[in-house]
Amino acid sequence: MNWITNYVRPKLQALVSSKNEVPDNLWEKCPACEHMIFHRELEEQLRVCPNCSHHMRIGPATRMQLLFDEGKYTRAELPETIQDPLKFRDRERYSERLKKARSKTGEQDAIQVAHGTIGGQKAVAAVFDFSFMGGSMGVAVGEGLLTAAKLAVEKDAALITIPSSGGARMQEGILSLMQLPRSVIAVEMVKEKNLPYIVLLTDPTTGGVSASFAMLGDVQIAEPGAVIGFAGARVIEETIRETLPPGFQRAEYLLEHGMLDMVVPRAELQETLGRVLHLLREPLTGEALSTSGKGKKAASKAAASEEAKSGTGAQKEKAAAQDEKSGTKTSKSEAERVTQQ
Ligand SMILES: [Zn+2]
Repeated sequence: MNWITNYVRPKLQALVSSKNEVPDNLWEKCPACEHMIFHRELEEQLRVCPNCSHHMRIGPATRMQLLFDEGKYTRAELPETIQDPLKFRDRERYSERLKKARSKTGEQDAIQVAHGTIGGQKAVAAVFDFSFMGGSMGVAVGEGLLTAAKLAVEKDAALITIPSSGGARMQEGILSLMQLPRSVIAVEMVKEKNLPYIVLLTDPTTGGVSASFAMLGDVQIAEPGAVIGFAGARVIEETIRETLPPGFQRAEYLLEHGMLDMVVPRAELQETLGRVLHLLREPLTGEALSTSGKGKKAASKAAASEEAKSGTGAQKEKAAAQDEKSGTKTSKSEAERVTQQ
């Protein structure tokens, strides 16, 4: 027993802390540049670091609010699925892990589906929740993707998937792997109806998710700096015994190597998605139809993404419409051609 530690120190601490009250959650450290950011400022910046533009992860609710017009959307109910089919246990029971993730997130599993409009265009979004067991894809997530695809077909809407996932959920073994072809079937359902399918890759998109629906978009968009790949960089380095190039598996690297159509900062995502959807669904509407003249073939997936990037959608639309007038095809077939791509 020491009167300094037992009596004096607590008194001093009380004295100091009362004068220096800073709640822990007032500041947040950027994981990339270690800059301390005022919490409110970070929220205003959509959780993008004002110092280095690092895009921090955001949850499905924030994501949907960000993407749908006026932040309004309707959540779709997802069907109940089999729980812990293998009675799996590693260091902890899978059922126990599920329970914890559910109480932490208030959600049933790692995916949320909602519908609404983006830039006035009907859209269904399937958004992954990385905070729910690393956004891993088990039966429930597969079911969620199918539900989203069916909803898109039913509502004649575009499907947008937004993965943020470490891959398959190993606690569900082979049933988890079966979600890869299932998610591909979901995408096919949408494509068969000539509805646009867009993937917005967010940090991280890895493993089985990157080996299925997440790479099948008509237009592939990613957030800056997002890690996108199948196997982890360290595993690859150990296997091939070579040092990987800088920026490997980052969104910008994938864009440079032709795996993505665009990398779009978070603040511009809603506008860009709206523009892409408009181009894919209504390429020949508005004043563009009433203009005449010569134009060149412009309606293709590449053109659509290029337009969205450069922000000259209206001009190119005009060109497409002019092409239409001078060409021999009917406007319906042109529109179909565009949507199919
Ligand atoms: Zn930063």
